[in-house]
Amino acid sequence: MKTIGLIGGMSWESSAMYYELINKRVKELLGGFHSAKCILASVDFAEIENLQRKDDWNGLSQLMIQSAKQLENAGADLIILCTNTMHLCSEEIIRNTNIPFLHIAEATGKEIKSKGLRKVALLGTKFTMEKDFYKNTLSHYDVEVMIPNSADREAVHQIIYKELVLGILKSESKEKIKQIIKDLENQGAEGVVLGCTEIPLLIKSDDVDIPVFNTTKIHAESAVEMALKNENIKIVN
Ligand code: GLU
Repeated sequence: MKTIGLIGGMSWESSAMYYELINKRVKELLGGFHSAKCILASVDFAEIENLQRKDDWNGLSQLMIQSAKQLENAGADLIILCTNTMHLCSEEIIRNTNIPFLHIAEATGKEIKSKGLRKVALLGTKFTMEKDFYKNTLSHYDVEVMIPNSADREAVHQIIYKELVLGILKSESKEKIKQIIKDLENQGAEGVVLGCTEIPLLIKSDDVDIPVFNTTKIHAESAVEMALKNENIKIVN
């Protein structure tokens, strides 16, 4: 089994979910006492949030490269970055490390394509919804991305930063997000990408009428697949 390196802490609420999902998936596939080999480099989210607000993506890239190098030096075989937004720094991470980097939007694109969907709604931070990195990556999988209107983007962004990353789950916010997804469904969305690793804390598949793509789960399970690939391990059902 390869060792998965996780860059986490953005927020730790979702990193905890990654840790659980990765271990559950390894146990599901290998059975017995198996658990995941992994290393976590966890940052202080206050530093990240501060630089995001200043739009200092160069400073953010430096912090991400630092964490990625820590993982590489500690013996990780591959890297996952446990946040959608910070994938804005993914090219810099790849350029400055020598181990594979598993991109969250690539993993999500593959999953959407395998389900045969062509048009999905994307919810996440304003950075994720308004910058092009997600749209561009999903276009490689022939998937078109729809985003909420400006007021709804602001609402989702505020729910993420004022509640979800702080571990606060409110029923009115859940209803708001469900309404935003319904509006996008009525405009033609065939599925919805929960493109913020904390949104799955609030929204589950059963809350929505269209297929839900939980990026935290897709990313975590793709990392396990990569960690077990080419290994002569007996996989139990
Ligand atoms: N975890 C969130 C995401 O997936 C937002 C927090 C952050 O800015 O990294 O985008």
